[in-house]
Amino acid sequence: QHAISIRNLKKTYANGYEALKGVDLDVAEGDFFALLGPNGAGKSTIIGIISTLVRLTSGDIQIFGKDVATHVYEAKLSLGVVPQEVNFSQFEKVGDIVRTQAGYYGLSPKLARERTEKYLKKLDLWDKRDNRARMLSGGMKRRLMIARALVHEPKLLILDEPTAGVDIELRRSMWDFLQEINRNGTTIILTTHYLEEAEHLCRNIAIINHGEIIENTSMRSLLSKL
Ligand code: ADP
Ligand code: ADP
Repeated sequence: QHAISIRNLKKTYANGYEALKGVDLDVAEGDFFALLGPNGAGKSTIIGIISTLVRLTSGDIQIFGKDVATHVYEAKLSLGVVPQEVNFSQFEKVGDIVRTQAGYYGLSPKLARERTEKYLKKLDLWDKRDNRARMLSGGMKRRLMIARALVHEPKLLILDEPTAGVDIELRRSMWDFLQEINRNGTTIILTTHYLEEAEHLCRNIAIINHGEIIENTSMRSLLSKL
């Protein structure tokens, strides 16, 4: 079973720019997968489309065997997305941001509270739960977005440049955390323009450039070619 399966995905933005030119991509359930490519290659566009924030121009996407276009809510439930840019309200409290998200996914108030505590603790933010989000450091905001993406315990976690702009110490601890999540059975896809990150974390990899997949292989065989 594939966690995600993408066929002939095209995206032309309203200004006429062809950001994706027919992308095919399969990611197996349980995989730790990197979408690697330079800035402007189309990585965020793919993630935006998977998370239904960006409309696709044409193509098909299945998540765990279900067509996203006809199973929108199921797809959302099986997916957690960590965007590149902060997209929560800076004036809300940290705990409320995670708990509210749990509510969107239909968790009961009791379960929402339990999961909020569980994931804020895991991401070392529990003592900040009553702080306004704007008081957090950049690294804490990144961790808050991860906690929020995990609160409904999705089968697939997608992260867009998760360690861009974070210091080396936090990068290491985020890497450890993501590996633990993956070992526990969550499929992970991340985008990065940073080969070392993909090398450290990922089993399989696709390289995208100018809206086209130019390589799709195991990390091991990519490294043997370099
Ligand atoms: P869609 O085709 O998904 O409706 P649009 O083409 O309408 O998306 O663009 C969405 C937003 O992104 C617009 O506000 C647009 O101004 C902005 N935008 C335009 N060009 C770029 C760019 N090169 N990179 C990022 N955002 C852009
Ligand atoms: P990456 O995540 O790999 O850096 P993106 O998916 O953000 O790449 O962008 C791919 C290309 O599409 C870039 O050239 C970008 O400028 C362009 N682009 C992104 N969003 C928009 C938009 N809303 N309107 C027009 N062009 C866009």
